[in-house]
Amino acid sequence: MRTEYPDFRLGSVLATSFTATLTERRGDAVERIPTPQRLTDWLAVNGLAVESCTTAQLARARELREAIHAAATAAAIDDELPASAVRVINDCSAQGLAAAILTPERNRQWRLSSTSAVEDALSVIAADAISIIAGERDGRLALCSSPTCQAAFFDTSRSRTRRWCDMNTCGNRHKKARFNANRRKKSS
Ligand SMILES: [Zn+2]
Repeated sequence: MRTEYPDFRLGSVLATSFTATLTERRGDAVERIPTPQRLTDWLAVNGLAVESCTTAQLARARELREAIHAAATAAAIDDELPASAVRVINDCSAQGLAAAILTPERNRQWRLSSTSAVEDALSVIAADAISIIAGERDGRLALCSSPTCQAAFFDTSRSRTRRWCDMNTCGNRHKKARFNANRRKKSS
């Protein structure tokens, strides 16, 4: 029987979709890439397909993930960026040989090398993180208002007032909690 793993939380921003492979960081944390195969799966659904990945590469990926989380969190609250996190992000960014490819349908794809595909994929993720933390892209880094989450997310809403990393999870849970609280108030 195939083991069921937690599903992925995918957003439109690659770097924060990647940090969302560990959710509920301030509560009962859920690891969504628990095995090398799940990292392979995650990369495939994010346009960075690799044939396979090793345990060491999974460890490196998680190290990058936590570095992005730390740096993005610091950036969101206008704090100094942790030097160790910046170093990991820059190292991962520099180690890749990924090439941006333009398709005839005017899509951008990533071509990874045959010899270091996982490292190449991580470099694409690191570069994406750099662009949002450096403030190059239109949007604002913010922290999710859910006390058990507090994930850094990239707010591209026009008003820049998004409160939740994900409307379907944290936002929805908040809405439900408020609804139940109101109902309790009314019935008492
Ligand atoms: Zn959240």
